Amino acid sequence: MNAEIIAIGSELLTPFRQDTNSLFLTKRLNELGVEVIFKTIVGDRLEHLLQASRIALTRAQIVIFSGGLGPTEDDLTRECVAQALGRELRRDHEMVTALYTSAAAMRMRVSENHVKQADYIEGAEILKNSRGSAPGQWIDTVYEGQRRIVILLPGPPIEIEGMFNDHCFDRLKQVLPEEHIATCELKLAMVSEPAADQRAAKIYKQFSDIETTVLASPGEVQFHLKTRGATQEEAETRVDELASLLEDEFTEEIFSCTGESLEQIVAYFLQMRGATLSVAESCTGGLLAERITRISGSSRYFMGGALVYSDQLKQDFCGVPPQLLKSDGAVSHSVAAALAEGIRQRCKTTFGIGITGVAGPSGGTSERPVGLVYVALADGKHTEVVDRIFPGGRERIRWFATQLALDLLRRKLR
Ligand code: ATP
Ligand code: MG
Repeated sequence: MNAEIIAIGSELLTPFRQDTNSLFLTKRLNELGVEVIFKTIVGDRLEHLLQASRIALTRAQIVIFSGGLGPTEDDLTRECVAQALGRELRRDHEMVTALYTSAAAMRMRVSENHVKQADYIEGAEILKNSRGSAPGQWIDTVYEGQRRIVILLPGPPIEIEGMFNDHCFDRLKQVLPEEHIATCELKLAMVSEPAADQRAAKIYKQFSDIETTVLASPGEVQFHLKTRGATQEEAETRVDELASLLEDEFTEEIFSCTGESLEQIVAYFLQMRGATLSVAESCTGGLLAERITRISGSSRYFMGGALVYSDQLKQDFCGVPPQLLKSDGAVSHSVAAALAEGIRQRCKTTFGIGITGVAGPSGGTSERPVGLVYVALADGKHTEVVDRIFPGGRERIRWFATQLALDLLRRKLR
């Protein structure tokens, strides 16, 4: 089934407030296998709200309204939905009594406006609001010959979340036809998005029943696969079929099929091998060590390293020969290699990584442009050095460099 969310409130059309309720609702609806096909934001004006409601009722099976259920003049959701559905508003007298009782307990008066909250659309079920005063409503109806579930929920995030979780989630589950969804997330390192998509498209296009989304970030591409089936097993088999074809195509690049980050995979491989690691970082300023130590338990395989920004510290901490720095320059193939092997020996680890480069935006030359990075991986017998020129600003280049370093190690350990 599909849904449309209508977020109501003039403040949501200003630069100062954002509609976050629909993000929450979308997440929960997706968990039920309901796809959100439209989101509408509309101000507190009856004619606009009526327009939006009528359009939503024609195109979505579930229509959820957020907000506009309060006691003030601009709270129009009840009136508007009643009008759109061609139904009357009724007053719940028990609720009116309860309003008077609770107001009396607080020595407050009940205004005529306040009583509006006791109005419900003919045929609606009332949804209790345990975190506020405005109740919600649930209407199972037929609109222009089509079954529609219409849900009215309050605007304050704490109230809508409570009401949806308490009174709507399970109720929706019962209404929905039984459906099974299988998903899979493949992560690839150090491949460009267009290149990855070109190779993947010829495979995933043969699976028209599987929704494939390609997401890219610096040094990483993700393929998100999603399908539905009559049984969970059927859906999973289908997704697995496509996933394994993609794994065959990208044997080198895929590092995770179950959501892990690149540093988690590297952690896993290092522990499996009983290997240890140290790093000497120049242009990444410690970012690589930071990423590695994000993983709890990293002390088992990560010994530490050095932040060697100056030439002097490259010599002092990693034993880089001064004549090498002079002849080849700090940003060079040979210095990266010397950093990796130097830190490895100094820290007595299985592997050593050295990174040197020009993160920019200043400091680039025609010979060594901004974005040029050398990453070296040493294991005592052999030192592998890779150089790349990464695009983008300083942050992006630094991130790319750490991604390259982690991926180099992953490929070595694989
Ligand atoms: P209620 O139905 O409970 O009366 P309302 O829309 O009438 O809700 P408002 O006074 O307009 O109540 O909003 C209450 C608070 O909830 C405000 O801070 C408002 O910005 C916030 N809010 C309303 N809608 C959303 C939304 N879609 N996303 C995030 N916050 C929202
Ligand atoms: Mg409002």
